[in-house]
Amino acid sequence: MTEPTSVAPGIRRLPLPMRTDPGHINSWLLADGDGWVVVDCGTRTEATREVWKAFMASPLYGGGITRIFLTHAHPDHAGSAAWLARETGAPILIAREELRALENFAVDDAKRDAEIEQWMSALGAEEDKVRLCQGFYHHFARGCPQIHSEIQIVAPGDELDIGGRRWQLHAGYGHTPCNLLLHQPEEGLVITGDQILPEIVTHVGIWWRQSENPLPLYLESLARLRQLEVTRAFPAHGDPFGEFRARCDQLRDTHEQRLARIEHLLGDGPLSLNALLKKFGGPAVDGPMFPLVAGQILARLACLESTGRIAASGADGQMPRFQLPEGSKSPAS
Ligand SMILES: [Zn+2]
Repeated sequence: MTEPTSVAPGIRRLPLPMRTDPGHINSWLLADGDGWVVVDCGTRTEATREVWKAFMASPLYGGGITRIFLTHAHPDHAGSAAWLARETGAPILIAREELRALENFAVDDAKRDAEIEQWMSALGAEEDKVRLCQGFYHHFARGCPQIHSEIQIVAPGDELDIGGRRWQLHAGYGHTPCNLLLHQPEEGLVITGDQILPEIVTHVGIWWRQSENPLPLYLESLARLRQLEVTRAFPAHGDPFGEFRARCDQLRDTHEQRLARIEHLLGDGPLSLNALLKKFGGPAVDGPMFPLVAGQILARLACLESTGRIAASGADGQMPRFQLPEGSKSPAS
């Protein structure tokens, strides 16, 4: 089996398989008496269940799983939650906003397809892009669990006692409606979910039925979370890392550079959404990851527009065009 490795006293890392990049997700096991609180639990696949079954059959399992904490409701974090809760009897702890996101994905396929078509058509998207989007969300919805066991709603500001340690919950916005981070202030430990990752730049994009302007939410969260006293961070993807504050600053700078690139490009004149997608998304805009790539670029455009750095034009149903505001110059010109 994949052995959960000790990363700190009372904290173990259990990597779970993912078919897509980055190939793994970390579940963090926190000692809770003679059992474990599980933070995130992997995709809704047999391969993930096999890892859990092996863990449950090992001596380390001890008193079993006492709680299943979901940092957020993405399929790689929450996919196996319903199954694991059924197997162990453990309650699922999740933020209300994330539970609502799961419920959104439980609507029937026809209703979701119709909403996505309407949403994409309002942006002037072509038929093939609408289909790509519907296909993506169809697949995504299949990875989401439908929970029928006990749910405990948790919220930013809550404090959890786990094996005598107190963990404070902090909100991370922008990646999903409310990614909850667990912070242990005395020891300077934090479990980040996807909000702050050591190598990957967290995806911040516009999603169906979610925030229309997530990037300012993400940047505000970074500015707030960087204040936490952290000596060691445990991310959902990648290895534990120090230099938490420096990583927050690096992520902020990366996003700011991406925004500035759009402004710079528009310095040569207005561009349509399609032209911007092609410029920044490359070949991926014609593949199955189109919704993720386009969602990120749309999020940058929404952020720039909401702060008056660019202006958009185009009626409903027409492909929007973007330009620098009247009288302004390209910041790099
Ligand atoms: Zn995620």
